[in-house]
Amino acid sequence: MRFEPRPFTGPVPFRCLYCLDCCRGRHIYLTLDDIERIARAGYDPEEFVTFSIEGNKIRFVLAVREWDLGCVFHDPETGKCRIHDVNPIICRIYPFMVSRKPLGVEGERPFHYKGQELWLYYDESCPGINAEEPEVEITPEEIAELGLEFERKFERTDMEGLARLMDELER
Ligand code: SF4
Ligand code: SF4
Repeated sequence: MRFEPRPFTGPVPFRCLYCLDCCRGRHIYLTLDDIERIARAGYDPEEFVTFSIEGNKIRFVLAVREWDLGCVFHDPETGKCRIHDVNPIICRIYPFMVSRKPLGVEGERPFHYKGQELWLYYDESCPGINAEEPEVEITPEEIAELGLEFERKFERTDMEGLARLMDELER
């Protein structure tokens, strides 16, 4: 699915409909924390981590199935996420996103949080946004917090860290 950004400037009612559209054809970055959490839940990193070379950095990306580009943790029989309780931080941020720069969307404005200037958006193509009988109201503050957490952890994610983690997991 294609992210259709709309400015996220105030609380948005949300109820995930588990259509799982967001679990196919997406590039989901992993932090070392994500990899460790999922591995400790019983999954082998060799089965769910792939690599992407970006500039002079190696990034870790969630593996997808060949036949439909669906995430390897998406259960095609139930339509649910098999690692819902330990899923990557990017999956917890979606259907929202946090950017350091404006995307050029009408009505956007900066959101100031913990001394940082951020630009927040939600994905209008997600049917859970403004769904009937919403379960929660998502606030810009909670998404900004997750976005900053992701940024911090992602910057510390590298090959040496993965090698160390793999050693620890094997002990
Ligand atoms: S977050 Fe949105 S797109 Fe993803 S499963 Fe829930 S309702 Fe569907
Ligand atoms: S980890 Fe779960 S929520 Fe994230 S893309 Fe895979 S199936 Fe979807």
